[in-house]
Formats: sequence, structure tokens, C-alpha cells
Amino acid sequence: FITGKRKVTEVAHSVWKNIIRDGDTVVDATCGNGHDTLALLKMVADQSGRGCVYGMDIQTSALENTLSLLEKSVDSNERKLVKLFSLCHSRMEDVIPKDTSVRLVAFNLGYLPGGDKTIITMPGTTLMALHAASRLLMSGGVISIMVYVGHPGGRDELETVRSFTSSLPVESWVSCKFEMLNRPSGPVLVLVSKK
Ligand code: SAM
Repeated sequence: FITGKRKVTEVAHSVWKNIIRDGDTVVDATCGNGHDTLALLKMVADQSGRGCVYGMDIQTSALENTLSLLEKSVDSNERKLVKLFSLCHSRMEDVIPKDTSVRLVAFNLGYLPGGDKTIITMPGTTLMALHAASRLLMSGGVISIMVYVGHPGGRDELETVRSFTSSLPVESWVSCKFEMLNRPSGPVLVLVSKK
């Protein structure tokens, strides 16, 4: 997973590639500028037009950026596989039907790069969203959480994520953390897999 990777986000994408299968349903819980949404779309889209990415963000500008990245990167048939919602991720169950088999839920926390740095993910709603993601996830699925610690509140959010993921019962979950030891203030990738 790490050979040739300079960024933790690249490590996350290579983990996702190993988990996601053609035709899967996945969730991008923080669309931002749409890079993760696009990467996920490429991983789920199959030849017969199956696959689905549910994407959400609380900022209109983020959803606009995501849509415009998709418009210039994929054709309209592939684009139809992405369902974007202006929504707090704590409410993801309002738009994702209960019986959906979700293979991966991706969180990329913090603020919108190039946007308003004071609008950030918050520990309380992040925790609610992690609970929702854990309910939606299929067996063999993964929740991928990228946490940034360099902005105010980042370390508190990491603690919330650490506490939630550490308390998942070991009989049904595997929780692990990836961090670059030679880049101490870099992002931390937390991965939890449902058995
Ligand atoms: N995944 C993105 C990409 O590939 O460009 C980057 C995401 S950015 C680091 C974090 C995003 O989370 C911001 O766009 C922000 O608006 C969004 N956000 C903040 N609070 C949120 C919430 N409660 N629910 C959903 N999105 C939220």
C-alpha cells in the first residue's frame, strides 16, 4: 500500500482499490472538491452501468466543485452513478435506503481545501456519522477515516475517532490506524473493517 506513495490520501485510495468491487455501492461522506468521489466512482463503475456513489457535503460550493470535477472527468452515463446530497453526514441514513449493501464509507475530515477554513467537520456530528456508517456497512466492508490534526479542533476530532473505533467489539470489527512516523503532523488514516 505504501510503495511510491507520498500522501496518506494515496495510501487510502490504494486500500480502497483492494476492497471495492465492480458494481459496489459506496459513500463519500465529505465530498469537498470531489477528488475522493471521482476516485470512488472509477472503482465502482462497471461495464454494465452498475455501481453507486452516495456523496454528501454541507457546503454548496463543495458540491458544485464535485459536480464540475465529475463533468470534466467522466461521461454522463458514469456521472449518473453518483448521487450528491446537500446534507450533514450524520443524516446519511435519510438518503441511503436501509437494505443497501454498502462496501465502503469514506470520510476525509477537516475543512474544504481552497474554501472557508472555519467550516470544519465537528466531533459530535462526525461521531453520529460514524455510528450511521457502521449500521449501513455490509460484512467485509470498510470505513475509511482521514483525520487532519494541523487545524484547531483537529486533535479533538482525532480523539473522538480514536475512541469510537477503539471501542468497536473485536468479535465483529478490526480497527487500525496508519500514520506517517516521519511526518508527525500529517493526516492520520483510520480504517475499520466489519467482519
Ligand atoms: N474528500 C474531499 C476531496 O476529495 O476533495 C475533501 C474533503 S474536505 C477535507 C472536508 C469536507 O467536509 C468539506 O468540504 C466540508 O464542507 C465537509 N463537511 C464539514 N462538515 C460536514 C458534515 N457535517 N457533513 C458532511 N460534510 C461536511
